[in-house]
Amino acid sequence: MLIKREKTLIKTPTRKPIMTNENNYQALSAALKNADSIGIFSHVSPDGDTIGSGLALYGALKALGKTVFIACADPIPQKLLFLPGAAAVTQNPPKAAKPLDLAIAVDTASYERLGVFGHDFSRAKNTAVIDHHKSNPRYGKINIVVECAATAEIIYRILKENALLSDDAAACLFAGIVTDSGCFAFSSVTPETHAIAAELMNGFKFDAENIIYNTYRAKSLQVFKLRNAVLSKCKFYNDGQIAVVSIFQSDLKDTGAGESDTEGIVTDGISIIGVEVAFSLTEMPNKQFKVSIRTKNYVDANDCAAAFGGGGHTRAAGCRLSGNYYDIVDKLLKVARDRL
Ligand code: 5GP
Ligand code: MN
Repeated sequence: MLIKREKTLIKTPTRKPIMTNENNYQALSAALKNADSIGIFSHVSPDGDTIGSGLALYGALKALGKTVFIACADPIPQKLLFLPGAAAVTQNPPKAAKPLDLAIAVDTASYERLGVFGHDFSRAKNTAVIDHHKSNPRYGKINIVVECAATAEIIYRILKENALLSDDAAACLFAGIVTDSGCFAFSSVTPETHAIAAELMNGFKFDAENIIYNTYRAKSLQVFKLRNAVLSKCKFYNDGQIAVVSIFQSDLKDTGAGESDTEGIVTDGISIIGVEVAFSLTEMPNKQFKVSIRTKNYVDANDCAAAFGGGGHTRAAGCRLSGNYYDIVDKLLKVARDRL
């Protein structure tokens, strides 16, 4: 017999303010003060939040006279190269014989998302995790994990508290917030998000319109072609409640686009009226699929991703799956249907 289930609205949690007087912030301030060699690590497939947050912190620590680098396992996307200091982000950090005094992971939801730098991170004498993903398992010695729209919001509070903000840091943090909030559109945005953006715009000199254009609106011709190609083949299931966009290596080749150009395509799926769950699957060169999940009213995206060892937020999450494409789609559809 069919069991009829009432649909429950999944609300994004009401958020508590970012409290820099808590113990973990004090531990971080002390760790920053005591450390000389510091490594900042951004997550694989970097976006404007992990790079913007990392660069703001990097600039501040350099100004303090620290020996610091910012590393990312994947190359920084072309569209983020306009950020002040972007050239500093390296895939080849200095190989010191001694472990780092302090390693800081920014915006990195799990240890795995440090990619090849996981080892450098964990071998540091002290480790800190600064992140806004609710799925974060708190894999650092110091963990500052606050659910908010962007890690850049947390970095803002930390730098402000330590009087380390600058025009360049403000530009990077604003870029981080714009990126992860969908330009202030997502349900993760709170009055505090707007307040921080306003404080940045009031207190510092940077070109907000240009940052929004570069991080949110600008697309290369390749991206435009890629989107048109893959969105025209978008598939719908469950009476139009589920959308699946697939991006194969051949699509990237045909349009001249790269993996980082697939970011945000899933948003077009969830924008469609009636769609409650949108998936995008990107075929990676190693035959893995990078899956992005977006949800609207009734499904927790983080919960779907967690079924496959991934994670993220209530409305936006991701995971990686290996295997046959059709099997993967079936598994994703089952997870979505079970929750609709
Ligand atoms: P996106 O779909 O834009 O790549 O990611 C959406 C959100 O889910 C981001 O906040 C991202 O950090 C998180 N996310 C994406 N892929 C993974 C993954 O493989 N593992 C985990 N833990 N989180 C992910
Ligand atoms: Mn983020």
